Amino acid sequence: MSALVLDGKALAQKTEEELSARVAAMKDKSGGQTPILATILVGDDPASATYVKMKGNACRRIGMDSLQVELPSSTTTEQLLAKIEELNSNPNVHGILLQHPVPEQIDERACFDAIALEKDVDGVTCLGFGRMAMGEEAYGCATPKGIMRLLEAYNIELEGKHAVVVGRSPILGKPMAAMLLNANATVTICHSRTQDLAEHIRRADIVVGAVGRPEFIKAEWIKDGAVVVDAGYHPGGVGDIELGPLVERASAYTPVPGGVGPMTINTLIYQSVDSGEKKIG
Ligand code: NAP
Repeated sequence: MSALVLDGKALAQKTEEELSARVAAMKDKSGGQTPILATILVGDDPASATYVKMKGNACRRIGMDSLQVELPSSTTTEQLLAKIEELNSNPNVHGILLQHPVPEQIDERACFDAIALEKDVDGVTCLGFGRMAMGEEAYGCATPKGIMRLLEAYNIELEGKHAVVVGRSPILGKPMAAMLLNANATVTICHSRTQDLAEHIRRADIVVGAVGRPEFIKAEWIKDGAVVVDAGYHPGGVGDIELGPLVERASAYTPVPGGVGPMTINTLIYQSVDSGEKKIG
């Protein structure tokens, strides 16, 4: 039997229709105000520039505005902190996205953490992470939260299941593990020093690949009927998991492309609309 395809592209499109209606309602009620997402791009990395452009386009598609801030690659931590402070104090800005990675002379953690909690719609601050992990209100980190929204939309059962997350980065693996734990999964987190990775993965009901290496997680390590979530995307259209043989053996999987990727930007704009509604009404 073929596995269920967890179609992030379709869910993102459907959600955009709902978000467009919410933005239109906000505009009507407020005399034309829309939520505004401020995006900050530091330096001239072409991939980062493309991501920021895609985020601006997503805002436009749902009728929301974005404020695009571009800073030179020579920007210092102090200069970036000053810009974030300015956006924190701007009442017309409802969300702030600092595109990662920033040039190496910048203290990225300090800059992420300078984003006001109520504008942290990308879910990158330590405060937001801590609150989310404790089950308190906070915007979730966009990629793992997008994965949770996708699993929920397809009614994937998490409670009591064994989830293995491969990767522990601050923007993906760690918050992913905390979100799965909050959903009552039993969670194993694997990383570069994990011994017997294949053995851990063999016991997984749900596998999340967040490693950053093409097809690093082999299909033969994954048991029949598992739910397979692949956050990776690499040239040639492959992810972090060897998906080909799993299309028949898994119970559900995220395709690459079209699975996790579209849900990340979708979650960013979803949370920006939430933030806008809190301020605009
Ligand atoms: P990252 O910061 O480079 O983290 C990679 C993680 O993989 C680290 O925790 C690392 O462990 C672990 N790892 C590396 N080699 C390993 C090994 N041999 N065995 C087990 N674990 C190993 O990457 P990231 O930002 O989390 O991204 C992960 C993937 O998700 C990438 O493919 C990226 O492109 C993708 N991604 C997609 C989106 C999206 O919107 N679709 C967003 C973000 C990321 P250590 O901690 O021990 O070093």
